[in-house]
Amino acid sequence: MQTLTFAVLPGDGIGPEVMAVALRVLEQAGQRFDFALDATHADIGGIAIDNHGVAFPDSTHKVCEDADAILFGSVGGPKWESLPPKEQPERASLLAIRKAFSLYANIRPGLLYEEIADASPLKRERIPEGIDIVCIRELTGGIYFGDKSTTRLDNGEEQAIDTMVYKTSEIERIAQVAIDTALARGKRVTSVDKANVLECSVLWRKVVTAYFAKHAPEIELDHMYVDNAAMQLARDPDQFDVLFTENMFGDILSDEMGIICGSLGMLASASLGARKNRLDRPFGLYEPSGGTAPDIAGQGIANPSAQILSAALMLRHSFGLHEAADAIETAVRSTVKAGIRTADIAFGLASVGSEAMGEAILKHLD
Ligand code: NAD
Repeated sequence: MQTLTFAVLPGDGIGPEVMAVALRVLEQAGQRFDFALDATHADIGGIAIDNHGVAFPDSTHKVCEDADAILFGSVGGPKWESLPPKEQPERASLLAIRKAFSLYANIRPGLLYEEIADASPLKRERIPEGIDIVCIRELTGGIYFGDKSTTRLDNGEEQAIDTMVYKTSEIERIAQVAIDTALARGKRVTSVDKANVLECSVLWRKVVTAYFAKHAPEIELDHMYVDNAAMQLARDPDQFDVLFTENMFGDILSDEMGIICGSLGMLASASLGARKNRLDRPFGLYEPSGGTAPDIAGQGIANPSAQILSAALMLRHSFGLHEAADAIETAVRSTVKAGIRTADIAFGLASVGSEAMGEAILKHLD
């Protein structure tokens, strides 16, 4: 029997609530698909500040180092918002952990089941079959990681500079992730840039075009400027299959994709890097797309689906357990289809709490 060694970092707010449900689903999947869990819990984010004085303690780093994957909840909340920005949970733990493990590829499925199309702010006639897009975002380059400075000019005013930097090798390695994703889906990729204005985008488009032509000529590759992509995503999301872009554009577009897919409670994500785990598979961090939801934390009503679907992504990418991942994804969909829903996706139906939603998903997994 295979044993899965992974770090469990529930974090703050609804993190621990939905994580508990996701672990139960993983345990049951293990019974059905013959794997055991070796999960080590550690503090991250606000709870780590409270218990250890820093958001990403060395002890947590060590737990992650020793693991083959990280299952992450979410971090932050009002309690820590008055800390200096550099010490706040999101920057000091989430960005830090991405950097520590060079997690350069963010894979975010934008999935809206037809059955809950009402959750989308888009009119139903624009998304008759729901939404099914995957956004591939470069996560450790570009303007967020380039040199930055703020200086005072001779005339007394302040000037701030952020630098956008990309190298061929950084573009090629994320292009490969887009190719792998597209080959497992519809074989269509839309690469998004701003090549009419930015040098980085000119290089991005050149490298992506050459890399796809050499390594995956069978994939249909289009290019789109980011302003148009933002508009097209709201106008006709069905035209996209794999949406592929650099760090800042991906940050913005993946959030737009998230909102047109309805509740954050349904959206999972995977962040992968060059590092391989002991199974020679990608070491990755898997987390819901949403945050700690302070408005509902502690009430037991958060939707656990995003955390459960993140766990399914972990099984798929870091452990190669595709059948188990498929089964979990199907169980979530069947549960929603059966009308068992948490409040964020209930739309007039009676809603259930996180635990009951988890129980229903477990039944469908059986
Ligand atoms: P949020 O994603 O926490 O909440 C936005 C809205 O979505 C809220 O109404 C919330 O109730 C709802 N929501 C989110 N997840 C849900 C779920 N599973 N089930 C049902 N409803 C859900 O965003 P926010 O309010 O802007 O941020 C709250 C805190 O989370 C902040 O401290 C922020 O910094 C942090 N945050 C962390 C991450 C992360 O850890 N990756 C991401 C985003 C925000």
